[in-house]
Amino acid sequence: MTTFSSLLLILSYICNLPHLANAFFPPIPSIGSPILTKGGAVAYHRQTTLLRQSSSDSESSNTKQPHIVILGGGFGGINTALTLPTLPWSDKCIQPKITLIDKSERFVFLPLLYELCVEDASIDEVAPTFKSLLRDGKLPTFPGLSNLSGLIGASSANDDTDEISFIRAKVEGIDVNNQQVVVSHQSSNNVETIQYDALVIATGAEISLDGVPGASELALPFYTVEQCLELKRRLALLDSYLEKRARNGDETPVNIVVIGGGYSGVELALNLVDRLGNRDDNVHVTLVHRGKQVLQCATEHNRNTGIDRLKSAGVNVITSTSIVEVTPLDKDQGNRCLVKLQCLNNSTENGITSLDTSLLLWTAGATPTSSQNKGIRNSILSRDIMGRILTSPTLNVPEYPTVFAVGDCSRPKKEPYPGTAQVAIQMATVAAWNIYATLVNNNAKSGESLKLLPFTYLSLGEMITLGRNDATISTLGGIELSGAGASWLRRLIYAVRMPTDRQRLSAAVDGTTRKLARGALEAGQRKSKPVDWK
Ligand SMILES: Cc1cc2nc3c(=O)[nH]c(=O)nc-3n(C[C@H](O)[C@H](O)[C@H](O)COP(=O)(O)OP(=O)(O)OC[C@H]3O[C@@H](n4cnc5c(N)ncnc54)[C@H](O)[C@@H]3O)c2cc1C
Repeated sequence: MTTFSSLLLILSYICNLPHLANAFFPPIPSIGSPILTKGGAVAYHRQTTLLRQSSSDSESSNTKQPHIVILGGGFGGINTALTLPTLPWSDKCIQPKITLIDKSERFVFLPLLYELCVEDASIDEVAPTFKSLLRDGKLPTFPGLSNLSGLIGASSANDDTDEISFIRAKVEGIDVNNQQVVVSHQSSNNVETIQYDALVIATGAEISLDGVPGASELALPFYTVEQCLELKRRLALLDSYLEKRARNGDETPVNIVVIGGGYSGVELALNLVDRLGNRDDNVHVTLVHRGKQVLQCATEHNRNTGIDRLKSAGVNVITSTSIVEVTPLDKDQGNRCLVKLQCLNNSTENGITSLDTSLLLWTAGATPTSSQNKGIRNSILSRDIMGRILTSPTLNVPEYPTVFAVGDCSRPKKEPYPGTAQVAIQMATVAAWNIYATLVNNNAKSGESLKLLPFTYLSLGEMITLGRNDATISTLGGIELSGAGASWLRRLIYAVRMPTDRQRLSAAVDGTTRKLARGALEAGQRKSKPVDWK
C-alpha cells in the first residue's frame, strides 16, 4: 500500500467514512457486500428494513428464537454484540436474543487508560457504561450524518438493538456439553444458569502476579479501570506526601518502579513522568524489563522514538532483568517495598540487586486465566499454555462448533495473534458472521448452507502514547509520525474506534477540547516565563 493510500485510509477513519476506508480492505467472500463498520471492522450492508418486510413467512415457520450469549463486553464482546443485529437474520432464521454478560458495568477502552490516570480524559469517555452504549446502539444512523443522532440525543423507534440485553455478572463456569454458563451476581450473591444456542467467549486477559512471591500483596497491576483509578488515588497521596516532605526539607529518594518494557510499561512510565511534572524532589521512575530491549515488538520507528523519549524523560531503564521477590518495608508507608531484581545475564547470587520502592506498578504477564478469573478456566475447552482457547481459523472450537472465542482469550492458529484491540475488533465481525452462518445452517427449515469464514488479520499499524502531548505512530503503508500532532491524531483515531456514534462524538469532542485547552495553557506558561537576562 502506498503512502497516499495509507493517508486516505487514516483520513477515512478520522472522517468516519467507511465506504472510503472499505476501498483499502480485501472484501470477505460469499457474504454479499462487505463494508467497513463505523468501528472500522468489516461488516455487511444493513438490509434489515427490506428483509423484515419480506420475512414474515419464514418467521412463522421457525418458532424458536435462538439465544446468543456473549461472555465479556470488551473490544471483542461488544463489537460482536453490536454487529450481530446488523446481519440479515429474518429471512433465514428468527432474529436471535443476544445476552451480553460482563462482571463490570463499564466497557473499557483500555488504550486510553493512561489518559484517565493522568486526568487527560473523563471516565465516561474511557469507560462508558454498557447501559449507555446499548442505548446509543439503538439510535438511527444516516449515511454521511452518522453522528447526528448522537448529537441531538434523540431516541428512536428503531429497535435493532432491543435484542441485546446486558447482565452484570461474573462468569463462574462454562458447561459446553449442556450448552449453559453459570454466572454469579455480585450484588445478590445469587448464582444463575443461562442456556445458550451459540456462545462467544471474549473475556480478555488480566495480569497475573502469581509467579513472584510478594507481588500480589504489594504490586498494583495496570490493566483494569479499577486498577487505573487506584493508581490515580495513590498518585494523589504521593503528591501530598511530597509536599509534606518538601516542607520538612527531606530529600530521601522516592522510587516508582514499572515492571514490563512492552507497550504498556513504556506508555505508563512516560505518562507518569509527565503527570509528576518537572520537580526537584528526588522522584525517580524506573522501568524493569526481562527482554534485551524495551518495545521489542514495536516497529523500528516507534521503538526508537520510545527509547529516545525514555532517555530524555530521565526514566531509568533496566533490561535483561527479572523480579524474583517483593518484600514489605515499612508498614507506615503503605505499600513501600523492596523489589529484588535478578540480572538474567548473571546467574550468580551477586546478580541480585534490590530497589527500595514506594510504588510498584505491574504491566507484564497478562493472561486469560489469571487467578482472579478462575471461572473462565472452569470448562473442558482446550487451551494453550497461556490459557487461550484453541479454536479453528473460523474462531469456533472444533469439538463444540457453536462455541466461539475472540480477542485476547482466543488462539485460532499456531502463531498467536498479538493481544491487541485491533485483533479483537476484527475477530468480532468474523465471529458474528460465523455465528449467523452456524445458526442458519443448523436451522433445518432455512435450507441454507452458508460458508464459515476463516479469520485473517490486517494490521493497520500501531500508536503509542509517550505523554499527555506526545505519541508515536507507524501505519500500514509506512507513515511515521511522532510528537504533539501524533498525540492528537491518536486520540482522534481512538474516538472513531469507539463502539457507538454517540461515544465517538463525545470522545472526539472531549479529546480535542482537552488538547486545545492544554495547548493554550502551555502557550500561556511559555509567555509568562520570566526573561532570563543573563
Ligand atoms: C493499558 C492498556 C493499553 C492498551 N493499549 C492498546 C493499544 O494502544 N492498542 C491496541 O490495539 N491494544 C491495546 N491494548 C490491548 C487491548 O486493550 C486488548 O488486547 C483488548 O482489550 C482485548 O479485547 P478483548 O475483548 O479480548 O478483552 P477486553 O477488552 O479485556 O475485555 C474483556 C471483558 O471481559 C470481562 N470479563 C473478564 N472476565 C470475566 C468474567 N469472569 N465474568 C464476566 N466478565 C468478565 C471484563 O470485565 C472485560 O470487560 C491495551 C491494553 C491495556 C491493558
